[in-house]
Amino acid sequence: MADTPRPDIVYTKVDEAPELASASLLPIIRRFAAAAGVSVDTKDISLAGRILAAFPEHLPEGQRVPDDLAELGQWVKTPEANVIKLPNISASVPQLVEAVRELQDQGFAIPDYPHEPATDAEKEARARYDAIKGSAVNPVLREGNSDRRAAAAVKKFAQDNPHRMGDWSSDSKTRVASMEAGDFRSNEVSATLDRAATARIVLETGDGETVLKDGVTYPEGTVVDATYMNADKLDAFLAREIEKAKDEGVLFSLHLKATMMKVSDPIIFGHAVKQWLKPVFDTYGDEMKAAGVDPSAGLGDLLERVKDKPEIMSAIEAVRAERPAMYMVDSDNGITNLHVPSDVIIDASMPALIKAGGKGWGPDDAQHDAVCVIPDNSYAPVYDETIEFFKEHGKLDPATAGTVQNIGLMAQKAEEYGSHPTTFEIPQAGTVKMVLDDGSVLHQHEVQEGDIWRAASARKAPIEDWVNLAIDRQRATGYRAIFWLDATRPHDAELISYVKPILEEKGMADRFEIMAPREATRASLETITRGENTIAITGNVLRDYLTDLFPILELATSAKMLSIVKLMNGGGLFETGAGGSAPKHVQQLQAENHLRWDSLGEFCALGESLKFLAEARDNARAKVLGEAVEAATQGILDNGRSPSRKVGEPDNRDSHYWFARYWAEALAAQTEDPELAEEFAPVAKALAENEAKITGELAAVQGQPADIGGYYHPDPDKLAKVMRPSETLNRIIG
Ligand code: NAP
Ligand code: MG
Repeated sequence: MADTPRPDIVYTKVDEAPELASASLLPIIRRFAAAAGVSVDTKDISLAGRILAAFPEHLPEGQRVPDDLAELGQWVKTPEANVIKLPNISASVPQLVEAVRELQDQGFAIPDYPHEPATDAEKEARARYDAIKGSAVNPVLREGNSDRRAAAAVKKFAQDNPHRMGDWSSDSKTRVASMEAGDFRSNEVSATLDRAATARIVLETGDGETVLKDGVTYPEGTVVDATYMNADKLDAFLAREIEKAKDEGVLFSLHLKATMMKVSDPIIFGHAVKQWLKPVFDTYGDEMKAAGVDPSAGLGDLLERVKDKPEIMSAIEAVRAERPAMYMVDSDNGITNLHVPSDVIIDASMPALIKAGGKGWGPDDAQHDAVCVIPDNSYAPVYDETIEFFKEHGKLDPATAGTVQNIGLMAQKAEEYGSHPTTFEIPQAGTVKMVLDDGSVLHQHEVQEGDIWRAASARKAPIEDWVNLAIDRQRATGYRAIFWLDATRPHDAELISYVKPILEEKGMADRFEIMAPREATRASLETITRGENTIAITGNVLRDYLTDLFPILELATSAKMLSIVKLMNGGGLFETGAGGSAPKHVQQLQAENHLRWDSLGEFCALGESLKFLAEARDNARAKVLGEAVEAATQGILDNGRSPSRKVGEPDNRDSHYWFARYWAEALAAQTEDPELAEEFAPVAKALAENEAKITGELAAVQGQPADIGGYYHPDPDKLAKVMRPSETLNRIIG
């Protein structure tokens, strides 16, 4: 943002449902903000935008797009940063390939995604695509730690209007299965560096030494972990759980995070695909490999590649007949848990299953108990304990339950979520060593071929900032505050060495507890069951998992969460909700022109962003605008103006009409800034007077297919036409 005038606020351009919603909401935000002299710029962090930005030399001048993500990545390191960040696609390979094809069909001459790069040009293209793949946006923008909670109005609304929860019975056969040995949890080693250091990661084998990665730099005080998953033990574990699922008569399900953990988890997913079809791989492995089968791409891709090979197809059928029923993504279309690596994402899938009373959908389109396979045991105990708790006590009552807030260590690619560049599938048995610049060996492991080895780190400044953020929140709320750290886990023990002295020094030690994830889960569930509140202070992975799990139990969705990133250099990043980009919502819009996406997360983030602007730049009008946004959000909740899920009923666009109306009414009613009140009084009046006309115009378009001219890269004019169908509303907004 060096050459352009600095905007007050950046609103990100993203993908899928939230981007559809932006086509309707952003014009409203801009209209209101402009009246207060607040500029709102957009930056494109969508998958399609990031792909186009990566291949400028393949595109003519008119088709090139700037690298907005890189620019934003710089901006978030400045005190002026104020970003409203909507959820974007973390692309799995199949999604990336589809997006590339769509862009090519639209006339962008970008290269194909090279599955097996051979030439230099292909290797270069592959490297650029790999940088776009998976979770490539959040790690760049998250230059601070995370503060996530339900706004008071949202929590109260959920208590007054409790959602339905599936019943838990004490004889539920649903359970979590994790490895007892050989996983990342069991093999972890950790150390805190007493000086800045550069590390080299090497693999020593009988044939010599291979450098896996060189020049990894760590500042003084960094906690550096290394660990690996043993491939043989993983396979044996998966094979055993497949058998046990069959014996127990429950669904087999696998829960990973192949999007965020983009190197390790697709490999683990591939192991599951291979174990599921083991007899087929044993007999036809070479032939399938020749046909381009890559188990980590999933069963869907595999079936596509062998569909014309009757012998293999019938072998697959024979094995499937022997297998337990599988947890389904889409039983109507036969899409299983193992079809696509990014279809079942643990932080969304486990809470959904738990909320349903421990049930998942089977191939028969009915709900069944399930074994939830979560190979690594680092965080699986959270889900295991939650399931055991509900089996004992029955389901949570959202009408009376308190809330679990989260303070998450996230800044500067903390912990596992920053481990991708230092994760390796081991090509040959040997010893992996992390060697520091003075020649000393920091960590080492004996590994076998196929093991997944990784190093992760957390830096001192983010850790200290995180502890201080927790202290601030505890002071502000007085809630029970628990650090979810396991003293017996090497990494957590290093963190505890940071946490305790800071708490002592600030005289806050008696206000905090430190518990391993399993114990902390139970303590937190007990606390909220009593109607009290608690703050979970967690590392990066549990930040992600818990800010879906508890909101989904308490509020039915994590999309309504307040998600504030206090940037370490003084700026603010306001994420909208804790959920994703809801692909199913796009399908519904395309089929029947109804968008059930709820923009409440955007409303909350907008309010916070304006309040932050008011303080950071001493902008009194932004304060008035922000307070009016809060009133409008409250109005949406109090009056039940959130979108319905069903076609023919009010949708996302209707909720934006109401948001604009309540916002204008609040601005017209306030007395702090008479000029703004005067400006918005006629807007409020026009919106109220035309209510029937506007809602009629919005309702009229529903029920038939909608064409937005693309999935990953929609046509902006078509999109605007679909998302802004009320001439009357458009005229008032201008
Ligand atoms: P998801 O998009 O959160 O969807 C799960 C379900 O949650 C949706 O199908 C929808 O339920 C509900 N939901 C989420 N947000 C909603 C909203 N604002 N209003 C109403 N309902 C909402 O999770 P996913 O399917 O695991 O992930 C989809 C994509 O999002 C992936 O590409 C993933 O990488 C990306 N993602 C991005 C972020 C981020 O950028 N921060 C975070 C998570 C995931 P119903 O279908 O029942 O209506
Ligand atoms: Mg999450």
